[in-house]
Parts: sequence; C-alpha cells; structure tokens
Amino acid sequence: MSQTELFASPPVPPTPDRQAGLGRLKAFTPLMGRRYATQRNFDFGPDDRSNISVLSAHVRHRLVLEPELAQAALNGHGLQAAEKFIQEVCWRTYWKGWLELRPSRWSEYKTELSQALDALGEDEALRRRYEAARDGLTGLECFDAWAGELIQTGYLHNHARMWFASIWIYTLELPLVLGADLFLRHLIDGDPASNTLSWRWVGGLQTAGKTYLARASNIEKYTGGRFSPDAGALAQEAPPLDASLEHPAPQTLAAGEAPDPDSPTLVWLHEEDLHAESWAADRLDVRAVVYQAEPLARGELELGECAARFTQQALIDGAQRAGAHFGRTAQAAPDIDAVIDTARTLGAKQVVTQRPAVGPGQDQMAGYRAALAQADLTLCEMQRPWDAAFFPYATKGFFKFKTAIPAVFDQLRLS
Ligand SMILES: Cc1cc2nc3c(=O)[nH]c(=O)nc-3n(C[C@H](O)[C@H](O)[C@H](O)COP(=O)(O)OP(=O)(O)OC[C@H]3O[C@@H](n4cnc5c(N)ncnc54)[C@H](O)[C@@H]3O)c2cc1C
Repeated sequence: MSQTELFASPPVPPTPDRQAGLGRLKAFTPLMGRRYATQRNFDFGPDDRSNISVLSAHVRHRLVLEPELAQAALNGHGLQAAEKFIQEVCWRTYWKGWLELRPSRWSEYKTELSQALDALGEDEALRRRYEAARDGLTGLECFDAWAGELIQTGYLHNHARMWFASIWIYTLELPLVLGADLFLRHLIDGDPASNTLSWRWVGGLQTAGKTYLARASNIEKYTGGRFSPDAGALAQEAPPLDASLEHPAPQTLAAGEAPDPDSPTLVWLHEEDLHAESWAADRLDVRAVVYQAEPLARGELELGECAARFTQQALIDGAQRAGAHFGRTAQAAPDIDAVIDTARTLGAKQVVTQRPAVGPGQDQMAGYRAALAQADLTLCEMQRPWDAAFFPYATKGFFKFKTAIPAVFDQLRLS
C-alpha cells in the first residue's frame, strides 16, 4: 500500500453497505496501532478523516461487526499496540451494556426530552437560543461549523462531539437532552446508548465528579489551528448538572428463547443488526427474510436526512445479503401485521431476530412481541456472543470493564 493510499481520507458520509465498511476496515487496519493512539484526538476537519476509522455507522447497524474490528486490530498490531483502538471499540459495548442493564435511563431521557420540547413551545427566548444553536447561528465560529457539519454530513469527530456538547451545556446553557436529541437524530451512527450516556458524561450525570469543559487552547491544538476561539467566549467552569448522582441498580438480563431448527422460520431483520449471515441460523428452516421497511424515528422530531439515507440503504444492503445467504426472497415489512401475514402465507411458526438494544428498536419490539404472541408465532430474540460476553461487566465504570477485555477475547477466541 502506498503512503497516499495508506493515509487516504474516507468519504464522509461513508457508503452505507457492508462491502464499503469492510473496504474501510482493511484500509484502516495498518493505522490501528500506535498511530491511532497518538493521532486519534485530532479533528483535522471533514476533508481529512485519515486518523480515525469512520466506521461507527457501519458498526452501529452491524454492517461490520465489533469482533471483526477487534480481530483486524489484533492481527495487525497485537493487543498491546492496538490497545487504544480496541478500548474505543469496547467503549461502545460498555455504553450499550450499561444501558441494557439500566433501561430506565432511556425512559427517563424520553420523558425529559418531551418536557424540554414542550418548554420550547412556551418559552420564546429559549426557543430562539435553541434554534440559533441548532442552525449554527450562535456567532461562535467553531460551534457553528460543527452544527453545520452535523446536519450536512451526519458525522462529527469524537473530540468535536465533546466540545459541542460542553459548549451546548455550559456556554450556551441549553438543556442537555435537546442537544442529545439533535445528535441522535442527525448522526449516521446515532446510538441511544453511546449518545445519551456520552452527553450525560459531559454534563456530570454519568461518572461522579466528572464533567467535561471545552477549553479554547484544547480546541485550537486539536483542530490543528482551524479554530481559535476567544477563551473568554467559552464557559470557564463545568459544574455537574446534578451533584447527587445515583444510578439505578443493574438488572439481570434474561436469555431469549432458542430457535427450533425444525420449525418453519421467518428471519426478521431490523436496523440494529444487519448481518444475518452470522446469526448462526444456517441450520434453520428459513422460509423468507422480512426486513424493516423504513428507518425508525429516534425522537419526537424528524430524523436527519443523512441518518435516514444511511439507515435506509443499510437496510436494503442487509436484506439483499440475507436473502442471498438463505436462498430466499427478502421482503420489506412496513409493520408487524405484514410480518404476521408473511408468516401465515408461508406457514412459518417462528420469527427469528436479534434482540434490539435499549432505545427505539427495543421500544418497537415491545409492541411486536405482544402481536406475535397473539398470532401464535414464537419470537426468538438471539444475542450475539460479543454482547453476551461483555454486557455482564457493564455494572460499574469503564475501568472494571476494560480489565475484562483479554479474558473476554479469549472466551470469544479472538486472541
Ligand atoms: C457527546 C457524544 C455523543 C456521541 N454519540 C455517539 C453516537 O450516537 N453513536 C456512536 O457510535 N458514537 C457516539 N459517540 C462516540 C464517538 O464520538 C464515536 O463513536 C466516534 O467519533 C466514531 O468515529 P470513528 O468511527 O471514526 O471512531 P474511531 O476512533 O475510529 O473508533 C473505532 C470505533 O470505536 C467506537 N468508538 C470510538 N470512540 C467511542 C466513544 N467515545 N464512545 C463509544 N464508542 C466509541 C465506534 O464504534 C468507532 O467506530 C459520541 C461521543 C460523544 C462525546
């Protein structure tokens, strides 16, 4: 690989299919080692994403899988040299596991968001400040540029996400949940766990005693001088939004019903997991693949265009691959009635799917479970070995979680 190819920047937004994701994974593998550890915090701007993978949207929808990222890093560099990259991949799993064990945080978020949206209708001044931030019209150059980048590309560098969230909360003094909602609806990797909990972390609601303050010198350094905000224009301190931090106790996760290999089956594919080829469902009697017809809403307001486009195309890519894998047709199902109708027409007795994570996917599945049970169809919600192995460690902080990585990798035969 030539130097130019090695440091080529991926397109942003990236192409929403597995092939493009695997291509980016291959191209980025040589950079997952020490270079990633030293360079990843730099936000060189939307035209140069060569120092990070930009694979988050692929991983979010499981067009590319976490073990594939981990294995590439291990093969390319070994656990020690690729430690930083592997830890970042595991941060995603940690947040996901944390929320899975404490789903009430998601319900709370939805309630608070509803209240904050109502407040916008009642408080004209607040609404104007919110709209100015959303539309990149605050007059703070870096923040306005990130707001524009978010809407136009559906992606922001991790450091920009931290600065943006901190400025939103502490400089602009806007409600945290409105910022989290803006991100969730517009990011192509918009993820209920990583997003909600990262915003909470910035505001001091996740880790006791920890908040994140965006500093002018840090922004200047890590944007390579692209932005040089006036230090006085940014908040000087970041007190926790709630000093009496207490988390709900983690719940125990129940295993889903195992599929019956002799039962005629429908494979139900949704945006949370679009790699049915690796569901270990090969021995099932699959009659058809049905897939979610449209991206799910991620809040009360409209889904961002980039996020909607990415998810829609990802769904089609996942459905085509699944159809080819099982040698069956893949049909779009606009709702659960369509799934039930297809099952009846084809004589299917069970619906096999991956358990969606806490968030809009899990909310939707709650209604679907009842409808399928009423139609006398068995629903088998599988869980990936990666999640099953890691989630039980998400009971406390990331430190405890990350110490489990080598043992979990052994268990998953990734060493
Ligand atoms: C306020 C805020 C909101 C965020 N919202 C989301 C979100 O909705 N969806 C999302 O996937 N990530 C979110 N992140 C985490 C992180 O910013 C993105 O995952 C990362 O920027 C994606 O770019 P990348 O693929 O180039 O990452 P890389 O640096 O190449 O990392 C490799 C992979 O590791 C995972 N990852 C990296 N950093 C983190 C992190 N800090 N937390 C969790 N996972 C990480 C991603 O899956 C990523 O693809 C958020 C971070 C903050 C501070």
